Amino acid sequence: MKNVKYLLFIVPFVLIVPFIIMGCKEETPILSTYNLDLEYDSASHILSGREEVEYFNSSDNLLSEVKFHLYPNAFREGAKNKVVAVSNVDKAYPNGESYGDIKIDSVEEKRGEEVSALEFSIAGEDENILSVKLKNGIYPDESVKIVITFKVKLANIHHRLGYGENVVNFGNFYPIACVYEDGKGFMEALYHSNGDPFYSDMANYNVRLSYPNSMTLATSGETISESENEGNKISQISALNVRDFAFCLSENFNKLEKDVDGVKIQYFGYQGDDNLTECLEVSEKALKFFEEKIGAYPYPTLSVVKTGFVHGGMEYPTLVMIADDCQTQEDFNYVIVHEIAHQWWYGLVGNDEYNNAWMDESLAEYSTLLFFEKHSEYNFDIDELVKNATKNFKFFVDVYTNVLGEVDTSMNRSLKDFQTEPEYVNCIYTKGTIMFHTLRETIGDKKFEKALKSYFNSYCFKNASPAQLIESFIRGSGYNLEGFFNSWLNGSVVVM
Ligand SMILES: [Zn+2]
Repeated sequence: MKNVKYLLFIVPFVLIVPFIIMGCKEETPILSTYNLDLEYDSASHILSGREEVEYFNSSDNLLSEVKFHLYPNAFREGAKNKVVAVSNVDKAYPNGESYGDIKIDSVEEKRGEEVSALEFSIAGEDENILSVKLKNGIYPDESVKIVITFKVKLANIHHRLGYGENVVNFGNFYPIACVYEDGKGFMEALYHSNGDPFYSDMANYNVRLSYPNSMTLATSGETISESENEGNKISQISALNVRDFAFCLSENFNKLEKDVDGVKIQYFGYQGDDNLTECLEVSEKALKFFEEKIGAYPYPTLSVVKTGFVHGGMEYPTLVMIADDCQTQEDFNYVIVHEIAHQWWYGLVGNDEYNNAWMDESLAEYSTLLFFEKHSEYNFDIDELVKNATKNFKFFVDVYTNVLGEVDTSMNRSLKDFQTEPEYVNCIYTKGTIMFHTLRETIGDKKFEKALKSYFNSYCFKNASPAQLIESFIRGSGYNLEGFFNSWLNGSVVVM
């Protein structure tokens, strides 16, 4: 039970100032706040960090511990699951296999000026969880200040976290609290080469980052101030009401930016690139299209960052990574639009990406198709794209049936239950696209758009469950779509 009145007396003022962000109907709830003090040493490829997190217990339970994800440990030697599929090893590691990890130096609790050490353990299935035992439990709607000091060693890898020839990527690099689900507890997720094994709550971030002044920063959120100290730049960054925080550093960035209705869109390409204008333009068009089609983009910045990355692109709140090995401008356009669509499906409306990858991926992919349908100047034919998706999916089903004797085409399973990368891609992206296209053809454009907006408005700044997505489409369209969704998700539908 939440007692709001009680809250007003115990939570520090900064936490209770409600801020309403355009595009959302309701005030946002009280969020945890991460204060990160980070220093990157480019010679050793080590990031030293101090994280002071004001963790807010939004559950209905008394919590005696708090669990955090330690995603960087997936990059260590001997990790249970490889961070890339065998077929991508050569592409991901430019100089042979390389490893990184995160070391936790200390965990403390801060109450006023009083600081005391806390017991902690590196837990989870594969050293992927930091479990912190609290001195006193935290009641619902109370918060506790936990201070974690850590060091992240980067691998030489073209991945969310790691350094390549051009850019250093910092995605999922700090201890981030696991989502607590009533009845289930803290939701842990093991890293997997397929998909994005992430699930987090909205939070506020105040970040101080020190890095060599030869480098340029692309970051989630807004840079509030910049200064220099002994050969280092120090950036103060604010990112409010976002579900994660990421940044990239490079000595080779070439940036183009534009203010679009109060949003500063920045495209970070490389020195010598001749497609900065095209990339910025498609980013701008995507932002405008999704604002109109889905709902308002509530942040002051959007950074689109070219970088070394093994899988096309990667989304973070207000920052997307675009793989520098895109071969044509068409590839760049497609990836940029898909990743920007994730600002709505993942960034604003969140979901458990480990257990329900289809929710954000299928919607981001289908939203990308909707963009190209409207923007015919990019020469993507949506009918052709859906036809190809259907052909590819049927081919996948035929091959798997012939080779293995059976094929699992269900979409509602966790990342660990997809046996191969083609199985994941075909069930989540390809089949997901066909599912939403079939739905749109069934209920019509108007009702489809209404349902999409209804889903967005109901769960903006929150996490949604599969049942809530389905319920939104039922409400938005006026049709009972339960059977439709279930048959697609559980694999019983036959794609013709
Ligand atoms: Zn995606």
